[in-house]
Amino acid sequence: MAEGRIMKAISGFYYVKSDDTIFQCRGRGVFRKQKITPLVGDFVEFDADNPEEGYVLSIESRRNMLVRPPVANVDQAVIVSSAVMPDFNPLLLDRFLVLIESKDIKPVIFMTKKDLLAAQNLEKITEYQTLYKEIGYLTELVSSKGLEDPEHLKSYFTNHVSVIAGQSGVGKSSLLNAVNPTLELKTDDISESLGRGKHTTRHVELVEVGGGLVADTPGFSALDFSDIAADELGDYFPEIAERKADCKFRGCLHNKEPKCAVKQAVEDKQIASSRYDHYLRFLNEIHSRKPRY
Ligand code: GDP
Ligand code: ZN
Repeated sequence: MAEGRIMKAISGFYYVKSDDTIFQCRGRGVFRKQKITPLVGDFVEFDADNPEEGYVLSIESRRNMLVRPPVANVDQAVIVSSAVMPDFNPLLLDRFLVLIESKDIKPVIFMTKKDLLAAQNLEKITEYQTLYKEIGYLTELVSSKGLEDPEHLKSYFTNHVSVIAGQSGVGKSSLLNAVNPTLELKTDDISESLGRGKHTTRHVELVEVGGGLVADTPGFSALDFSDIAADELGDYFPEIAERKADCKFRGCLHNKEPKCAVKQAVEDKQIASSRYDHYLRFLNEIHSRKPRY
């Protein structure tokens, strides 16, 4: 028996990497009976007489798992958000951040296409960068056309399993290629995976980037909050979460309640109004989905 990690799954085969060899394995019948599907990213025990014929015997318990793409044990989500073309979109960025935080995955923010920024926009983007840094997020403003410091960017990926998030055309593939030129992802590759037809089998593969692993299909493409309850939303805004203990009411939703420490912090400009507006907007979305009785 050996141990390894599933790097790829296609039509019933699991490709398990152990030391430096990939073993093509099938799942044990018992997984089907128990309705357990081995996932890319799983640590497994397997048996194989040779690299073509193996069996996954057991799956180690998972730290977390995503449904889209189907991958387990993710440490980090790299949100790619272009500074221009398409325009920087703080609402979409906050949406990704909330979804990622809710899965207990660490977000990292890469703002791309720095080279296309005109001077006056650079100032605005730098302000946003400062805002997200102050909240505590690692934030980089880069140009994938001629990376200034590839080694520094690489270090974000080292020893992590990452998923990439971000709308189509923001530069996800370009960024990964710039960090790891041998990858040669076609630009638009990643976006094409997003647009795959409903009836095509989705598969995902972990590819090596900067001494870590990255899922080759973007994550968090479903941008609704169907798994998030109104009273937990604030936990996914670090600057709200850290103040909620000071609100007068337990379970304060920070919208209509008096003596709310969060609203006070917005008034005092300690919490950015853009972030608070987005919080209220998401809260509304959650309420309109689930009426309170
Ligand atoms: P994806 O859909 O998020 O994977 O985006 P791509 O990597 O395919 O990039 C979309 C387009 O933006 C392509 O034409 C890229 O060449 C271009 N692009 C991506 N990053 C940059 C950048 O940093 N600077 C410039 N000037 N263009 C970029
Ligand atoms: Zn409050």
